[in-house]
Amino acid sequence: MISFQQILFLITILVAGYFFFRRVLQIRKNILMGQDEDRTDQPTKRWKSMLLVAFGQKKMFKKPIPAFLHLLIYIGFIVINIEGIEFFLDGIFGKHRMIARLLQRLDLTIFYSITLNIFEFLALAVILSCVFFLIRRNVYKIKRFDGVEMSRWPKLDANLILIFEIILMFAIMTMNATDQILQERNVVGFPNTGLMIISEIFASPFYRPFNTELVLAIERIAWWAHIIGIFSFAIYVTYSKHLHTFMAFPNTYYSNLEPFGKIKNMPEVTREVNMMLGIAQVESPTNSETVRSLGAKDIKDLSWKNLMDAYTCTECGRCTAQCPANQTGKLLSPRKIMMDTRDRMEELGDLLAKSGKEATDGKSLLGDYISKEEIFACTSCNACVEACPVTIDPLSIILQMRRYMSMEESSAPQEWNAMFSNIETSFSPWKFPPSERFKWADEFTKEN
Ligand code: SF4
Ligand code: SF4
Repeated sequence: MISFQQILFLITILVAGYFFFRRVLQIRKNILMGQDEDRTDQPTKRWKSMLLVAFGQKKMFKKPIPAFLHLLIYIGFIVINIEGIEFFLDGIFGKHRMIARLLQRLDLTIFYSITLNIFEFLALAVILSCVFFLIRRNVYKIKRFDGVEMSRWPKLDANLILIFEIILMFAIMTMNATDQILQERNVVGFPNTGLMIISEIFASPFYRPFNTELVLAIERIAWWAHIIGIFSFAIYVTYSKHLHTFMAFPNTYYSNLEPFGKIKNMPEVTREVNMMLGIAQVESPTNSETVRSLGAKDIKDLSWKNLMDAYTCTECGRCTAQCPANQTGKLLSPRKIMMDTRDRMEELGDLLAKSGKEATDGKSLLGDYISKEEIFACTSCNACVEACPVTIDPLSIILQMRRYMSMEESSAPQEWNAMFSNIETSFSPWKFPPSERFKWADEFTKEN
């Protein structure tokens, strides 16, 4: 007969699954609001980039100590959650430690014991690493964690996730410690797991004086806390900057494989210029080209990859710390560009979901979230792209907005407009025709 715990477990899975997949579909829909862009070429290079950058965390190791601790949290979290397989089986079948029982029957308890001890060691490493990051963030106040964009929710989010991970790890330790005590007291339903060293040292002495009923209750509470914690964590992550733990993989796979300095030409403009130069035949633009704006003003003008970048941003600030414009006191912060893009995408996605595909709110990414001053402060140096540990390209968004301002609104700074018209009329940024390019050399020769 199906037990109360099994019913509760099934309800928990269904509710968590519903909220998780609903959010995943929403994120997918939001990313697909962007323009089409082909990123399917060179699959071997793409797999390599994903394995090195996302899986191997190659770009993180510029600072070895935080990088190592970050890796510990990452590996710890993935490996420990393998234990979730047993939780899942136990929850569905209403048993306790099904895999331990199976291995006990096969006389292989030692494997179970070794695996659990590895999990416990990693759980302890995760706790210590999270404490280190909490201190670094809140006590030492590292400069790159600061900035106008890092107030309120982003700041809280960064702390919450670390606290969340510590609680989850404590739940595992508590569960194992109390389990061990129940095994010692020969309570029915608790198979032999072998010694769990870390919980035996740190947690068991604390619970050992309690009577068996209380220890049993604590063990069940810790089990449920861990299960509910994992499900809540999975949902919470989809609303948090920690979405990068999943998004880093597709994002690095679809990263830009062109050299950093290569700026993509707009086909519409290239054709126009070629027609002016007589290289291409005069032809009318196709319908899609007539509708498309030059550059980007809002979310739908950006590509799906720009939008995926925004969901992948870890808000680490490495880009902003390297940005020469930011370092010299300008308003621009490439991290803010990514965070603003994500916030506006969420806002627009919600609006379209509620009010239909064509709904508008009169707002736009450029203007309401990102100012012209920020966009024009960019030197196009690519330092932010180079610094990003998950191969995000804030410059691509900046350039598209700059194009919009220059080509659709003609609102580029006066000096730029003068340069543009010089290029158009004199084929050079200055007011002189190419024929006068070597005039200085002639004058120099005459004088000498
Ligand atoms: S490309 Fe622009 S945003 Fe990026 S680091 Fe350079 S100046 Fe800053
Ligand atoms: S764009 Fe990259 S470097 Fe910048 S904050 Fe986001 S993840 Fe960090």
